[in-house]
Amino acid sequence: MTGLRFECQPGCTNCCEQQGFVYLTEADLERIAEYVGMTAREFERRHVYRTKHLLRLRVPRHQQCHFLREGGCSIHAVKPAQCRIFPFWPELVDSKREWKKTASYCPGIGKGKLVQIETARELAAELKVI
Ligand code: SF4
Repeated sequence: MTGLRFECQPGCTNCCEQQGFVYLTEADLERIAEYVGMTAREFERRHVYRTKHLLRLRVPRHQQCHFLREGGCSIHAVKPAQCRIFPFWPELVDSKREWKKTASYCPGIGKGKLVQIETARELAAELKVI
């Protein structure tokens, strides 16, 4: 692949509704907590599951994400790097098959301007440090 086309489509929340976990960086945690008016500690106690090696948002019982509202992401301005970078995730950028599979639920794939593969990989690299 030399480049990938992608442009998020207004009104769509398909990626937020997929099964899976949203992992957080420590910076994500601090930023989101501040945005919702909590201390990082409070936010973590309420919304985060922490293991020795990772942090992830807890998945509520009847929906995929606690912060997803009908109109979209309620923490859009400070959303976790994993969400911000989607669909430029390392495992998608370098696999034609996975990219195509993702396109089955993401209508933004194949639209918009061409993102050079190097740029897509640079974005993906942000997630490799999580
Ligand atoms: S599935 Fe694709 S088009 Fe829809 S919200 Fe997510 S990134 Fe945007």
